[in-house]
Amino acid sequence: CDDDESGDRASSSASESAEEGQKLTNLRVPRGVVRDILLRSIPPEWIRWGATLKDFVEDSDGVDVILDNGDVIRATVLVGADGVRSGVRKASGAAADLKSGELRYLGVALCTGFTDLSHPLLSGQGFYTVDGTSRMFTMPFQAACAETGTPERSMWQLSVRVDEAEARALAGAPRSEVRKFVMKHTEGWHEPVAAMFEHTDWEQAWAGPLFDREEPPTSKADAKAKPHMALRSPKSRVVCIGDAAHPMSPFKGQGA
Ligand SMILES: Cc1cc2nc3c(=O)[nH]c(=O)nc-3n(C[C@H](O)[C@H](O)[C@H](O)COP(=O)(O)OP(=O)(O)OC[C@H]3O[C@@H](n4cnc5c(N)ncnc54)[C@H](O)[C@@H]3O)c2cc1C
Repeated sequence: CDDDESGDRASSSASESAEEGQKLTNLRVPRGVVRDILLRSIPPEWIRWGATLKDFVEDSDGVDVILDNGDVIRATVLVGADGVRSGVRKASGAAADLKSGELRYLGVALCTGFTDLSHPLLSGQGFYTVDGTSRMFTMPFQAACAETGTPERSMWQLSVRVDEAEARALAGAPRSEVRKFVMKHTEGWHEPVAAMFEHTDWEQAWAGPLFDREEPPTSKADAKAKPHMALRSPKSRVVCIGDAAHPMSPFKGQGA
């Protein structure tokens, strides 16, 4: 029921638990909550909503960032936090060292969604199920709220070993096809798996291939071992961070 999460509240409840001597387990924070905390901490005029980077031109004093609407922003540095398909990496202004490192398909398609099903295996806990080809993982996402009548919500994730073409097709497929794919790969599984999917809003489900990227060399010695990649110039004013630099699968415990 509490939609007023803040960094202060998250940290104070963590320290209260520590004072009470409770064991602290994973702190899970939905990314929308993190985003709201960040948004509240900076002046709104710093953000340009709906702006897409098209290209950039770097010189010795700064970077001209060219947006798709034709606007040009002069910046001291450019930090590309623009995800796995980073436009900064692909821009014609990007030097070879920034582009270095191909995306690698991890051999797995991932489907994920939310279920409102109430079940002992989902209440305040989650479960893993594996069958050698597919893996199901659930975790609590949102507590029930009597005030608003909102039911408890859990997130589920199914990863399935398939070839890249099938995984890519899933990303653009109608959600009814994603549902069929999920049902096929969990057929005959234990309760409450099938019931979870009946209580899932499939229009909110996400599906697609998982990738990571070969790590570029970080030293001259490293660069010798990776001659197909370029060592980053320390003088560049352009850098990529997050998934734009190193996308990770969500199930290797690598964290984002
Ligand atoms: C199914 C799934 C589940 C995951 N679960 C977890 C999890 O439980 N915990 C965890 O820690 N990590 C998880 N991850 C990984 C995590 O989501 C990513 O590592 C993280 O979102 C990367 O953040 P980012 O800011 O680098 O990129 P993104 O979150 O991809 O954000 C990139 C942003 O850049 C914008 N953008 C793209 N191109 C341009 C452009 N040309 N101009 C302007 N803007 C642009 C996009 O619109 C987007 O807003 C999961 C990933 C997947 C696929």
